[in-house]
Amino acid sequence: MENKFRIIQLKMVALFVGTVLGTSAFLSFILISRSSLTLRKNASNLIAANTRQIELNIDNYLESIERAASLLYSDENYYSYDPVVDELDEYENIQKKKLIEDKIRNLGLLNNYSDFGIIYSNNQFVGWISQVTQQMFLDEDLYINFEKILKSSSYKSKNNSNGSAWVFGVSGNEDRAYYVKRFNEHALIVVSFYTRELQNVFKFPEQLEGMTVRLTDEKKKIVFSSDSTEIGEIIPSNISEILDDRSNISIMNKKLLVTSNTCQNNWKVICSIPSYVVIKDNVKLQSSVIMMIIILVAMFIVIGLLAYRRVNKSAESFVDSLARQAVSDQMTGLLNKTSFQEAVENCLQDEDKRKKAVFLMIDLDNFKQVNDKLGHLVGDQAIRKFASILKNVYDGKDFYIGRLGGDEFGVFCVLDIVEESEAKDEIMPYLEEFRTIFNSSFSMEQDICGLSYSCGAVKAQKQDSRYSFIYQKADKLLYESKNTGKGKDTLLFPEV
Ligand code: GH3
Ligand code: MG
Repeated sequence: MENKFRIIQLKMVALFVGTVLGTSAFLSFILISRSSLTLRKNASNLIAANTRQIELNIDNYLESIERAASLLYSDENYYSYDPVVDELDEYENIQKKKLIEDKIRNLGLLNNYSDFGIIYSNNQFVGWISQVTQQMFLDEDLYINFEKILKSSSYKSKNNSNGSAWVFGVSGNEDRAYYVKRFNEHALIVVSFYTRELQNVFKFPEQLEGMTVRLTDEKKKIVFSSDSTEIGEIIPSNISEILDDRSNISIMNKKLLVTSNTCQNNWKVICSIPSYVVIKDNVKLQSSVIMMIIILVAMFIVIGLLAYRRVNKSAESFVDSLARQAVSDQMTGLLNKTSFQEAVENCLQDEDKRKKAVFLMIDLDNFKQVNDKLGHLVGDQAIRKFASILKNVYDGKDFYIGRLGGDEFGVFCVLDIVEESEAKDEIMPYLEEFRTIFNSSFSMEQDICGLSYSCGAVKAQKQDSRYSFIYQKADKLLYESKNTGKGKDTLLFPEV
């Protein structure tokens, strides 16, 4: 019964702790995943906006070069000049070239181009074609090489669909990017700029920690990067794998958030940032939420255990008091008739105890007189006082005292003796002490009501294995005391 009660209590505590744990884990999971999602979305939007902004800046930058080049078409004198077919004398040639040269100088002056000129198929050129460019193809023909570049390009410019190309890394030169455009049958416009100039274009307001922004050409070569060490290299494989040739897109996997936008010349602006940076704040939040849950759960467990202990204690004391009530006489605190009977019966079962046992039956004499003359309350008090004297005197290891009825008591003593014959000598001092104390304690009741007590004392015999056997003997002795004038002890201690 008690075990069942304890199991139910434990189940309740487990259920309580489990519910608290489950609920907090569930709530924090929702909280973290929602905030994680929002963070990812925000970061993704921010980076996508940055990428788009840089793409527009680059488009503008490249377009300004294309526009400058197309201004050479503004005068027929410029594009109609062809030193290969024109049969001009040297003076006229010089004059024409000078005219074009001035125009080019005017156009290129404001811009920081590294080349801005026209190359003719006889390998002459006008304008500014740098030494670096001139020596780029070693002994090979400059015109033929740029023409090859032009032919291999599929780029269609906004301004002129008439063949133009944007190339980077010509002859391994990663300092410049070239714009090549057919000018006439025997002439090409060649413009180049230093790629380092792009750092002005790459400036954007929201630079997040760990973010890398790159411009790549059609061959996935890095034209410019916020990480200058990787310029000229092929874009890292983890990024190209995520993008898989898609553009104008924003993708996030476990490791990276990548956005990509395609520029007008098919180059791409690719922005990447490690995912852990994006959700870094969330990881912090996550650990504080976990800490909070641990603290909460610990608190609940402590509270639960304290409550369990309290409930358990009060339940135990409740069970204890129930048990005590079940075995004791309420008025005196002595054993009640049933539990006394049980205790005596248990001892009598044990042969060794039985040999050393004495049973006393005690009944107050003329107790009705106390009630009649002094009132019931005094009667009750007298019963309590009588019980307490019994408890004080018969205070032994294996002694049992019970209230068997109104003014009737039983005392069962397993004496501390070796031989059965010692029983009488051992019990006599108890009987005498009890009578002495009784006389001094109840002198008033004795005088007024003739209160005394009668006792029957019997030594348990071999055959007295049941309560009823020894009870009958003691009862008989008690009435012998009553019938022979009351106020005395009648003993039966047969010689063994
Ligand atoms: P006897 O000398 O022959 O033993 O007679 P007695 O007057 O003692 O009366 P008896 O033993 O026959 O009956 C016991 C009486 O004790 C009966 C009842 O009025 C009274 N009594 C029983 N229980 C209580 C109790 O709890 N309180 C009080 N005040 N009186 C009780
Ligand atoms: Mg009586």
